[in-house]
Amino acid sequence: MDLAKLTLVEIRNAIRKGKATSVDAVEAIRDAVEKRDERVKGYVALDFETALDQARKADPKLPLGGVPIAIKDLINVQDQPCSCGSKMLAGTYRSPYDATVIRKLREAGAIPLGRTNMDEFAMGSSTENSGIQLTRNPWNLDRSPGGSSGGAAAVIAADTAFASLGSDTGGSIRQPASFCGTVGLKPTYGRVSRYGVVAFASSLDQIGPITKTVEDSALLLSVIAGLDPKDSTTLNAPVPDYAKGLKGNVKGLRVGLPKEYFIDGTSAGVRSSVDAAIRKLEELGAELVEVSLPHTEPAVAVYYILATAEASANLARFDGVRYGHRAETIHDLGEHYRKSRSEGFGAEVKRRIILGTYVLSSGYHDQYYTRAQQVRTLIRRDFEDVFAKVDVIASPASPTTAFQIGELTNDPLHMYLADVFTIAANLGGICGISVPCGFSEGMPVGLQLLGPSLGEQVVLQVAHAYEQATEWHKQRPAW
Ligand code: GLN
Repeated sequence: MDLAKLTLVEIRNAIRKGKATSVDAVEAIRDAVEKRDERVKGYVALDFETALDQARKADPKLPLGGVPIAIKDLINVQDQPCSCGSKMLAGTYRSPYDATVIRKLREAGAIPLGRTNMDEFAMGSSTENSGIQLTRNPWNLDRSPGGSSGGAAAVIAADTAFASLGSDTGGSIRQPASFCGTVGLKPTYGRVSRYGVVAFASSLDQIGPITKTVEDSALLLSVIAGLDPKDSTTLNAPVPDYAKGLKGNVKGLRVGLPKEYFIDGTSAGVRSSVDAAIRKLEELGAELVEVSLPHTEPAVAVYYILATAEASANLARFDGVRYGHRAETIHDLGEHYRKSRSEGFGAEVKRRIILGTYVLSSGYHDQYYTRAQQVRTLIRRDFEDVFAKVDVIASPASPTTAFQIGELTNDPLHMYLADVFTIAANLGGICGISVPCGFSEGMPVGLQLLGPSLGEQVVLQVAHAYEQATEWHKQRPAW
């Protein structure tokens, strides 16, 4: 049997019952990577020796005892490279410490194994902005896996990882999860510590799991969530056993359908899969309620003002002095900064730094940044109003299935607009998940379920009930 095809819960249980060892699990991933990652290129770095050392010492009694987990390349794992998909850091930077989520994984018995590819500094929706390599969608190698956590989703679809951690600033967990037919959860802002995660837009970033099933997602969330003295934005709320809480069904739950999310612009194939999924929820006993999120239209613009503003400040640290790439033949300090940053950053990152600096500049600050913050408040209130009436909101995760490779690389604006269903959740600080809900022309479609602040349990419950009533999550790409 190919152990790599197991889910997180299945491999954990196999190790616990003595049917497999942690070393078997790591070796299964090594074999799977040899067979399939050459084509997918989901990983930018892998250190099997260190993982095998840890596997030999694994404690099967722990919640994730001996299971290897793949990590997006912006989460620090001590002594491993952390390149953020950027030439700025690739080949020069190694993490001197563990991020809090990694410490928590280790305490639960898991083994961080492999660095997954991403759009440079998490800026993008196709992983084509990686400065390191091109990742392909396991369902069709001519298509993108989505982004920015494209590698983290592709390795799940390719069965070259049991589960992975990604990050979501405007959809970067949910959208690639939907493009690759996997489950992707963006927790509530503050539910999971960002300590040790390289920042893109600090008021929007969250870490979350990408997995083969909803139960795996719930299990991983319970491990990584919680208050962290090292991240003052983490919430002081108890962390439930989310997997245990999945037993219920959706009878009597209210599912909101925002009228602004069901308009033209979504492809017919995505629309019909999502419509069928919503009917399935109704069949399972949920009550459908039409709702309105009136500030949906400006959300994309608000996001691209605030995210770029924050990014322009966060990326100032990459100056060629303290971290990463340093230009040669320098005559003065100004030239040092200019050359190091010009050589180290790719085109999209430069575009965002320029945009972010512009919207923060004196004279434009009030017109762009301050106004965007005001509209952000309205977007948050839209969600508060709707969640007073419904338990979850359902929508497509993305208006289309996976882009063709190269399809939108010369059209950044079009790619930004494709984030329309995911970014409002980050602006509102709420949680959301994407679960597989069908196929259109052979490519997976994702159903997005959004929940209120700290509403992870209800979101997981609805996603789980839907998953258990359907077969989509069991489909695997043909190799
Ligand atoms: N696609 C969005 C962007 O390019 C979201 C990225 C993310 O969530 N990291 O900014």
